[in-house]
Amino acid sequence: MLRFVLIFSLALVFSACNRPDPDDQVGTEYTYFSVNQMRTAAKLRQDALSGSGAYALLESLTTEVGGRLEGSADDPKAVAWAMEAFKAAGLANVRSEPFPIHGWARVSASVSVTSPVALDLTVTSLGKSISTPEGGVSGTLVPFKTYQDLVAADPAQVAGKIVFISNKMERAQDGSGYGPAVIARAKGHAEVAKKGGLALIIRSIGTDDSDFPHTGAMQLAEGEPTVPAAALSNQAADKLQALLDQGKPVRVHVDIQNRDLGTVTTANVIGEIPGSVRPDEVVLVGAHLDSWDLATGAMDDGMGIATTLAAARLIAALPKHPARTIRLIAFGAEETGLHGGNAYAAAHAAEIPNIVFGMESDFGIGKTWVLRPHVDESAVPVLREMWRLIGPMGVGWDPEDYEEVGPDLTPLVAAGMPGALLYGDGTNYFDIHHTGNDVLGNLKAEDLDFDAAAYAALLYMAAEYPGRFKAPAETE
Ligand SMILES: [Zn+2]
Repeated sequence: MLRFVLIFSLALVFSACNRPDPDDQVGTEYTYFSVNQMRTAAKLRQDALSGSGAYALLESLTTEVGGRLEGSADDPKAVAWAMEAFKAAGLANVRSEPFPIHGWARVSASVSVTSPVALDLTVTSLGKSISTPEGGVSGTLVPFKTYQDLVAADPAQVAGKIVFISNKMERAQDGSGYGPAVIARAKGHAEVAKKGGLALIIRSIGTDDSDFPHTGAMQLAEGEPTVPAAALSNQAADKLQALLDQGKPVRVHVDIQNRDLGTVTTANVIGEIPGSVRPDEVVLVGAHLDSWDLATGAMDDGMGIATTLAAARLIAALPKHPARTIRLIAFGAEETGLHGGNAYAAAHAAEIPNIVFGMESDFGIGKTWVLRPHVDESAVPVLREMWRLIGPMGVGWDPEDYEEVGPDLTPLVAAGMPGALLYGDGTNYFDIHHTGNDVLGNLKAEDLDFDAAAYAALLYMAAEYPGRFKAPAETE
């Protein structure tokens, strides 16, 4: 299905000129929207494509603030930046909603082969990894291809040793290689600890062949054992694999040092375009403000913040606001476990029934790829009609519901919020994801304008749609 959709959408790209006149593109045959509503949405789309200003917002965030992990000095700067940027974009009711979280800070990590040769390997700690004893630990390396192989191993194979999981993530446009590989990062540490191992090193969960290691969250359950854990760059993993392939015992020295910051405070930042007709009904759009600490989080998720904010700024500048309120949320502390999304859902549980549609931008690099609905069957044709405004740009349509509209919105979706996912292009996303190379130079202004155009058109129409979206019926 997706392959078909992609070919169809590419045909549309080639048949449409770059800057179509909004009226030519709109036509008159609509079931759910008026021609005037379509024209306004098309004008928003064209204004964004002609220069949404999203890149300038991203440049400001990444150069004036930098990396934005909760507990770091730059995190409160990011919250202040978002408050200012939301106000400057013409949003109303701009506020921050602080919440407490357990903070962690990276200090240093090194992994060196000591036998059969001496070799230093490029490495970084996994998020929230504990430290080795000062001076590090040495041990024989025991390799596993996958997390599942580690789970199946006899504890005697692992006890007193250092584990290496070597699975390499597959490249795919929909990012589907991530799930099977990332379990090594998420759960490997606990399995090594249970079997009496000393430390875990994994091949980075990324599709590049570079020397940038990829960090990322581990799943840490209360009271569960853990070990110090780090990721080798893909280049370093290749070097280590070559040694292992020679069949001789490999000994390594691992020194990981990090800091437990105790309880720290971060915040979600919220702003609104108050609705002109039904202000108590809310269309929600989100992205996450935090980033890992190795770079400036230009792609993950500065891009999402910049494109949704640029879209909201265009809508806020309309002579008449759309019928429903549009609420923009810059979520805090997504990377270490969706903490901002959970804090928002917990603090606003009573209001969730008033959130009639939700979207989030937190995936993909380049132009956004495909629109996927998360609404009940009767509203799928409404989404399809909304898509007609972005289809000619080259965004595909995939009517299948993956029950997903974005990570921070997961608890809202669980509570029955409908919405849609503008699914990004994952082909090159995992080349720089969570690395020191997630920097502004990898992003293009025209791609951000493209995404801002799609969000502006869809958010406007969701806020104008005269009917009420419903979530799909429970399938369980
Ligand atoms: Zn992200």
